[in-house]
Amino acid sequence: MTSPDVVVVGAGARGASIAYYLARAGVRVTLIEKGFLASGTSGANVGLVNVSGKGPEHYTAFSLLSAGMYPKLVADLDAPVDYQRDGNMQVALTDAEAEQLAKQAARQSAVPGVTVELLDARRARELEPAMSPRVAAATYCAQDGNVDPMKLTLALGRAARRHGAEVLYHREVTGIRLAAGRVAAAVTAEGEIPTGAIVDAAGIFVPRVAQMVGVSVPLLPQRGQVYHLEPLPAVMQRPVAGLRQFRSGTVMVGTTNEFVGFDRTVTYEAGSRNLDRARRIFPALARARVLRAWAGLRPMPPDGQPIYTAVREVPGFYVAVGHSGITLAPITGQVFLDLITTGGTSLPIGPYGLDRFTAADHEWARQPVKGDARH
Ligand SMILES: Cc1cc2nc3c(=O)[nH]c(=O)nc-3n(C[C@H](O)[C@H](O)[C@H](O)COP(=O)(O)OP(=O)(O)OC[C@H]3O[C@@H](n4cnc5c(N)ncnc54)[C@H](O)[C@@H]3O)c2cc1C
Repeated sequence: MTSPDVVVVGAGARGASIAYYLARAGVRVTLIEKGFLASGTSGANVGLVNVSGKGPEHYTAFSLLSAGMYPKLVADLDAPVDYQRDGNMQVALTDAEAEQLAKQAARQSAVPGVTVELLDARRARELEPAMSPRVAAATYCAQDGNVDPMKLTLALGRAARRHGAEVLYHREVTGIRLAAGRVAAAVTAEGEIPTGAIVDAAGIFVPRVAQMVGVSVPLLPQRGQVYHLEPLPAVMQRPVAGLRQFRSGTVMVGTTNEFVGFDRTVTYEAGSRNLDRARRIFPALARARVLRAWAGLRPMPPDGQPIYTAVREVPGFYVAVGHSGITLAPITGQVFLDLITTGGTSLPIGPYGLDRFTAADHEWARQPVKGDARH
């Protein structure tokens, strides 16, 4: 076994990005994945690089910083990841929804560098001509973009390896050995990997890995269901209301936000409800049949914000988890490179420590859930 400076647990967008940034900076890093690249939630999402729709303000600003790092990351990766920054729209089908959208647009536009425009029905249809006249109002945020999340994660993993990272698949971290209270080794069935630093980027399994060093990370899986439709001639110019059309013409219809434990079942009720709304927004979608459907599990802390921190109580142990791991992929790599190599970062991770959580937050995450795979 080698003795890397850093072991990263989990090869989703977060772990692969951290390994890439570290390896590029000359740090000896081993990325350990119990499946393969993108086999977790990073291979099961919609791939929006969204600044809008996040709150509170510091989280919108943090997402904006990450979105701004995308063009350089994509250029450096030099791999086809289908990234574009062509904005995102939300729509309202009723007056009540329009009122909500207006409030959200005003709140988010208060963040410097973010503009969420409120559009009337006529202007919305100028941007998206195939939109139904039933759409009462919409918002548009030019700072939003999108990427193919699977291709991004694969490209990050490959680039990490190109820069010297060791990438181990089908290898599970089953324990962490401490020496004098500090991280000393990652334990796997194949043996120990001595190291002074471990980044827990295990997605929905972050709490389980953190438990190995006695640290409680409040997090629950949140199910998101997606339908993927047959290819159609261009229906939409950009992602709209959780709908996304790919260059091939296929359309993703997202999604749900359900706390149902580790259950990845796709339900007909949720799928047909989302599809019905999608067809009310773009009637042309009624011509396409469902190709496939899946559900992914978002790693969701109680406040929906990231947990990006060095764990003070266990020197050498770091936690990288939360929702929106695709949007945050570039900033995640940079944050953990900074923390590990300099002991701090100028990036604004102040709000994302573990110390913000209350006893009630930890209790929330301990509730019994279906198919419990946490322990
Ligand atoms: C339907 C849906 C839509 C979404 N849409 C978006 C979106 O548009 N934009 C966006 O930014 N985010 C979106 N998300 C959220 C996003 O997918 C996640 O935040 C992100 O993929 C999480 O990445 P990760 O690297 O933290 O975790 P994961 O991708 O889950 O990676 C963790 C990896 O750790 C591995 N692992 C776990 N335990 C161990 C162990 N003990 N040893 C070794 N390996 C281990 C797992 O096998 C897994 O591969 C969406 C999520 C869903 C479900």
